[in-house]
Amino acid sequence: MDVKLLSSNKIASVFGMYNEKGSFEAVVSRPRENKIVFVVSTLYGCPVKCLICDASLQYNGKISFKDMMFQLDYLINEISAEKLRSVKKFKIQFSRMGEPAYNDNVNRAIEYILKNYNELNPVLSVSSIAPFGTDNFFDKLNKITKIYGKRNEFQIQFSIHSTDKKQRDYLIPIKKMELKRISQMGLEINKNINKKITLNFALFDGVIIDTDTLLEHFSPDAFILKFTPVNPTLNALKSEISITENSSVWQKYKTILKQCNNVGYEIIESVGDFRENEVKSNCGQYVNG
Ligand code: SF4
Repeated sequence: MDVKLLSSNKIASVFGMYNEKGSFEAVVSRPRENKIVFVVSTLYGCPVKCLICDASLQYNGKISFKDMMFQLDYLINEISAEKLRSVKKFKIQFSRMGEPAYNDNVNRAIEYILKNYNELNPVLSVSSIAPFGTDNFFDKLNKITKIYGKRNEFQIQFSIHSTDKKQRDYLIPIKKMELKRISQMGLEINKNINKKITLNFALFDGVIIDTDTLLEHFSPDAFILKFTPVNPTLNALKSEISITENSSVWQKYKTILKQCNNVGYEIIESVGDFRENEVKSNCGQYVNG
């Protein structure tokens, strides 16, 4: 595997990783003093083609277990195990590039990390758009959380983006699980872990988030809502989906957050540091795109 540092600043670094099969990117993000996040790619690009994400500018299949662990070891060497042990929060996030539920090696990697990297005390995070037909992946994840969910930290996230079926289909143009099925799966996993299941919404002008629909499917006792900006990706710009590049633009979405909070949901406002856009380490961005 060849590795190249593609971009870097005080907040984040993006590494390009290349082999005969293709390329992917791995990210180290240091959003605040006591937090380090590794974003581990799960596919060579992505076949889903979400309108706000550039990972799907290419797609060359699944990343092997070995190459997933290569990413992790490479990033650990970059930061040093000592540093990771000393930070308050160290998170390993399986997400882009690639929809994790399309790759069973993700579950294998999670189990391996829990058995072999436990001294680093990582939070294991999986973020999925819940593709149709990936029930086996989540059943396996459920089994893993049954064993490890109370002694290790898990963060399981479903990126829904809209409660309106038509709008959700527009943003995520593949067949996906219905909200009812996501809720069932989420409730199962929630029983095993210490955190609520996260529902993620990337906010843009015209986004439809109906609190009645949310309450119909997702109990505030088991689900927490996370709101993120749509980052300046090539696909978002091409699709004319409004992006958020600074905190003053973000202010216009505060009403949505308040409405959700008023009906009983806990809210995570995950705006992050806009300097990540400079190095294209933010969600949906792709340096080689
Ligand atoms: S957001 Fe996730 S599922 Fe959608 S294209 Fe990007 S990597 Fe794939």
